[in-house]
Amino acid sequence: MRAVTSIADWRSAAEGFRAAGHSVALVPTMGALHAGHASLIEAACRDGHQVIVTIFVNQRQFNDASDFARYPRTTEADLEVARAAGATLVALPTADEMWPVGTATTVHVGAVSENWEGADRPGHFDGMASVVTKLLAITGSCTAYFGEKDFQQLAIIRRLVTDLGLPVTVVGAPIIRDDDGLALSSRNVRLSADHRDAALAIPAAVARAARGGSVTDIEADARDLLVAAGLTVSYAAVVNAATLAPFTAGDTGPARFIVAAIVGDVRLLDNGPAHITGDHHAARH
Ligand code: AMP
Repeated sequence: MRAVTSIADWRSAAEGFRAAGHSVALVPTMGALHAGHASLIEAACRDGHQVIVTIFVNQRQFNDASDFARYPRTTEADLEVARAAGATLVALPTADEMWPVGTATTVHVGAVSENWEGADRPGHFDGMASVVTKLLAITGSCTAYFGEKDFQQLAIIRRLVTDLGLPVTVVGAPIIRDDDGLALSSRNVRLSADHRDAALAIPAAVARAARGGSVTDIEADARDLLVAAGLTVSYAAVVNAATLAPFTAGDTGPARFIVAAIVGDVRLLDNGPAHITGDHHAARH
């Protein structure tokens, strides 16, 4: 495994893989790699690609400066995780090269980015879409792997790849959880033991949605679980899995339960399938 910092080296490595007849996979990350990231790298290896992992803590997608400052940075350990998972190349671009002085281009994806995270974190998705577009542009033709953990992000990336006609196949990979059910996140290291216990209400809410019921019942029960554990709920909603719009009686495709909640000063995301049964807006009895 090779590590590079310059965009030129990264681009020429990707071109070299393709020239040698290999397919290329891209696994974009912000570092602090854990088993969730490793699962993406491993999936890309299993699919037969030369795997490029990028590690870049993208300042433009942090709407909160202190969140950016506190974001964990563990480069040496990250390189080891990437190597063990089978990466061929790790690109560690610099902020100066990713966002050169005078940067004036922003990628804004409409509709699907407006609700939920988009509403709660102004500018976040523009920063994310801008960096992902640049990562894909540098890498060139590839299969790009993203976690379902960030479900709205994945939907936005699918949309932008389609809309811009990028030579990219997007693969969504399942959420990796700790033994207690909490979805792995680089932010989990900031949870105290008590807050971590309270945070288990989040996977409990996801499990509630999977058990099924009306939209109204699922959303109300989920909110009750989160509030009872002392969490501040940003949203806990059943949505159309493709458009991320609130799920309505007219929806025929799959429904997804998405949740964001704050425990202590850590904001956590989770989601899972919602099984909508009966009169989908029937109130609980
Ligand atoms: P991040 O470093 O948080 O930007 O995440 C990089 C990629 O890893 C994104 O595609 C995330 O959705 C994915 N990811 C993060 N946590 C998990 C997890 N627990 N399971 C699966 N994928 C994850």
